[in-house]
Amino acid sequence: MNILVANDDGVFAPGIQALAKALQPLGRVVVVAPESERSGYSSALTLDRPLRPIQIAPDMWAINGTPADCVYLSMNGLFDFEFDLVVSGINSGANLGDDVLYSGTIGAAFEGRLMKQAAIAVSLAGSDVRSYESPESYELAAQWVHDFIAGGLPQLPPRHIFNINIPDVAEIKGAQITYQGRRMQSKPISSHVDPRGRQMYWIGLSGEAVTEPRENMTDIQSDFFAIANGFVSITPIQMDATNYGILKSLRSWLYETEQ
Ligand SMILES: [Mg+2]
Repeated sequence: MNILVANDDGVFAPGIQALAKALQPLGRVVVVAPESERSGYSSALTLDRPLRPIQIAPDMWAINGTPADCVYLSMNGLFDFEFDLVVSGINSGANLGDDVLYSGTIGAAFEGRLMKQAAIAVSLAGSDVRSYESPESYELAAQWVHDFIAGGLPQLPPRHIFNINIPDVAEIKGAQITYQGRRMQSKPISSHVDPRGRQMYWIGLSGEAVTEPRENMTDIQSDFFAIANGFVSITPIQMDATNYGILKSLRSWLYETEQ
């Protein structure tokens, strides 16, 4: 099996290094990642300038681009062989609920959505404010990912990927299949004055989790719930954002307005 490992924290991040090492027994592992951190880049592709991959070690490449660029190039001509699986991460910090919209870790995994096996985005979920994540935390999480893949990945429908969050705890209680939760309004932006007297702003932290369970979800919990209770959260997520539930009523509304 040829496994492509990408991330959004950059090629030198401890999470990607631990992940690549843990997956070695499963096949050929090739790391292709941004040369520096590109968190929050979602599925962005670089179109306004050329990309220059640099090989920094055997089967390890740094690219002056986004997480999705790394997977796009790897699947479209950077190598003379094909990959079977894309694993993105291990991200420093959770990707829960609304984070899915912004996450470069998830953007890289979505770029691998057409492979034989469903792509996997993996994040290490500590507290909201980034704290120091120990090498042992990443090793433990990476070993969990190894075991998950080695156990035989479940099939997902086309264009679906796994969004996996692993709690940063000494002992993982197990895993739960979850739905994507929701966050409340983000925390206020942080406002400062630079040394030259100009106002500047910094985007702040994401909002708190909505704790109310989703309607019609009696026996399945949210990704937030799993993490808060020490379980690995496994959420199948999809590219197709169409709201099929309202398609018909919306069509009726359009026909009525046109008459
Ligand atoms: Mg990141």
